[in-house]
Parts: sequence; structure tokens; C-alpha cells
Amino acid sequence: MSIAVAEKTNVGSLVLSEEAIRVREALINHGLETPMIDNGLTTEEKYQRIKQSFEDVVSTLGLDLTDDSLAETPHRIAKMYVKEIFSGLDYSQFPKITVIDNKMKVDEMVKVSNISFTSTCEHHFVTIDGFAKVAYLPKNKIIGLSKINRIVRFFAQRPQVQERLTQQILVTLQVLLETDNVAVSIDATHYCVKARGVMDASSSTQTTALGGLFKRSDKTRGEFLAS
Ligand SMILES: [Zn+2]
Repeated sequence: MSIAVAEKTNVGSLVLSEEAIRVREALINHGLETPMIDNGLTTEEKYQRIKQSFEDVVSTLGLDLTDDSLAETPHRIAKMYVKEIFSGLDYSQFPKITVIDNKMKVDEMVKVSNISFTSTCEHHFVTIDGFAKVAYLPKNKIIGLSKINRIVRFFAQRPQVQERLTQQILVTLQVLLETDNVAVSIDATHYCVKARGVMDASSSTQTTALGGLFKRSDKTRGEFLAS
């Protein structure tokens, strides 16, 4: 399938919110969309196929699928993939966002720190465990604070690389808040580094994405990065 066809049909017949459509378009335009194609499968079909695939994986490892502890494992994994940890691949799950006019004329930085999330490394399909910090300088719109957490979680619930996750949150808030003045930083532990490979139990990775004044002004950037 060509990319053009994939892009056109990716949404399928699902009813997407106007916000989800705008966000998705912006990510594609910025080259920041998660590489995905529309395989035409429904959620139920995805669940069935993944379940079957994990029956193969578990029995190939030499584990006994008739043991009552293991029997439901392929089912649990398939359900977890489709409904939970990879549910952010489905734009019909994009959070309902309330953005309101900035009638109070808030013009100072709004910053939300210590947003905890877990995601999944797309190279190894193991856990990324981290915290995000998000700030913006309100222009015409302000957003309900819990919605920022929900946006972080939506994009975390995909196979990810931390750099892309950081940028996806930035662009999403820029689109919804109608301003470039947004900043995102993420500090995360990658279990593919901790639990395998180099087995480093203590390192963490910081990524930052800055827009507008956060990029141009040392003072604004400093205020964001401090604490
Ligand atoms: Zn990894």
C-alpha cells in the first residue's frame, strides 16, 4: 500500500473528534506521526490475531499453554495491547479536550510537572517509565489541566521512542492551544536499558521539545527548566 493511500484510509470509518483530526494532520505534516499503516483490521480482529500470535510465542518458548497459570496469557496480552498499552494508536481514543477562550487574560506561564506515565519502547516492546513536564504561555485559549495529563497518556500508549513522544505532545498542544509557546520535557527510564543489554539500573534519559518563546527566550526557557 502506498503511503498516500495509507494516510487517506487510516482513519477508516471511525468517528473522530475534530481535535483528533487536526492533531493527526499536524503530526503528519511535521513528520512526527508514529509510522503506522491501515491494515483494515477491526479492534476485535486485532485482538484475535495477537492472541493467536502469542499462543505461538508462548508455546515456542516451550511453555505449557494447558497449565492454568499460562492458559489465559495470550488472551491477556492481546487485550492489554489493543485496549491498554497501545490504545493510543487509535485516534477514536483521543481524549475529549476542552479548550476555552482565555477570557481571564492569563498571560503567565502555566506549568504542569511530575506527570507520571508508562510507555513502551518500540524497539524492544518493553516498558518506558517516566515523568513529563509541560508548560505553555496562554494566548487565546487555555486548556483544562487534567487534559494535559490525558494527552501525555494518549501518546504514551503507543510503541514509542522518547524523542518522538516528546515532540508529539508539543505539537498537539501547539495545535489545540493555537500558540507556538509550548514546552515539554521528559525524564524516563528505559527497561530495555535496565533489564537487558547493558543492564544499567540507574541511568535515565532526558528529552526536551521547545516552541516559540521557550526556544527564543533564555529567561522563559530557564523558568521552564528550573524545578
Ligand atoms: Zn528499547
